Amino acid sequence: MAQPSTAPTPANAAARTTGQIWFDGRVVPSEQAVVSVLTHALHYGTSVFEGIRAYETDRGAAVFRLQEHSRRLIDSAKIIGMPSPYTATQIDDAIVETIRANGLSSCYIRPLLWYGSESLGVDPRKNSVHAMVATMPWGTYLGDDAVRKGARLMTSSWRRSPGDVMPTKAKAGGNYVNSVLARVEAGENGFDEALLLDKEGFVAEGSGENIFVVRDGVLYPIAHSVNLRGITRDTVMALARWMDVEVQPTMATRDELYTADEVFMVGTAAEVTPIASIDRRPIGDGAAGPFSLKMRETYLQAVSGKIPEFDSWLTYVDE
Ligand SMILES: *Cc1c(COP(=O)(O)O)cnc(C)c1O
Repeated sequence: MAQPSTAPTPANAAARTTGQIWFDGRVVPSEQAVVSVLTHALHYGTSVFEGIRAYETDRGAAVFRLQEHSRRLIDSAKIIGMPSPYTATQIDDAIVETIRANGLSSCYIRPLLWYGSESLGVDPRKNSVHAMVATMPWGTYLGDDAVRKGARLMTSSWRRSPGDVMPTKAKAGGNYVNSVLARVEAGENGFDEALLLDKEGFVAEGSGENIFVVRDGVLYPIAHSVNLRGITRDTVMALARWMDVEVQPTMATRDELYTADEVFMVGTAAEVTPIASIDRRPIGDGAAGPFSLKMRETYLQAVSGKIPEFDSWLTYVDE
């Protein structure tokens, strides 16, 4: 039998989840993008990452809000005191190069910066800093059912880390143990996703999504100092204003979510996902709400270059 070609073609790149990976400045086959088991980041969570998507458009693949994501990656490194070997512009270029190498028309993009394996002492500063960009095909994050019928949320018994315990504005590997605990608890209890509160009981966010409430025609983006500054949250607020919907960022308690007309979650991975119930209480009439579905549709149009007003958010990979 013929060996599969290692040359990246759309067909074989889509069949594999990883394909070619940009690793410390070079594009290599994923088998060659390997690290030591003594990697500092593997032991202590000393990594920072991004989650980005590229969408299929009439002009080929386009990365959505690439510069904002690269900037946040560099900001996350700065927050944890990690010297980044690359500038945000170099990360932009690495991402475009990786998508081209894999020949993907749409994909999820995962850049990562991490401390290497020179020293296992807690102080990471003796370690080199490495970088990689991986791309992979990725459909709906919470499943097609969750999108169509609305996802079922559970208030987690794990609270969102306070900002004086963990740097919650950084998308850092170590921070994600908090998200993993909440997500696993929700899954084990038969729910689609977790809702995290802060120590006082105010709504923070999902394990990797920001939250919106709709009530009496007003859109309330949930605001909290511990939340990650979501790029999708910013996008949805801009789209709502463009749709002439009143937008009022606010803090909320869990019972205020129970009595909303609609609740939806947003994130690069989750895109716009309607919420059908929280803690088994139906939100509105317990289905995906009309505004949530309309916002999902508008979002998917904006990311795929179908709304000229928002074309500046797109970076076309082949141009
Ligand atoms: C990544 C992330 C989000 C969503 O951010 P986007 O920029 O919209 O992808 C929300 N909350 C947490 C904790 C995250 O890590």
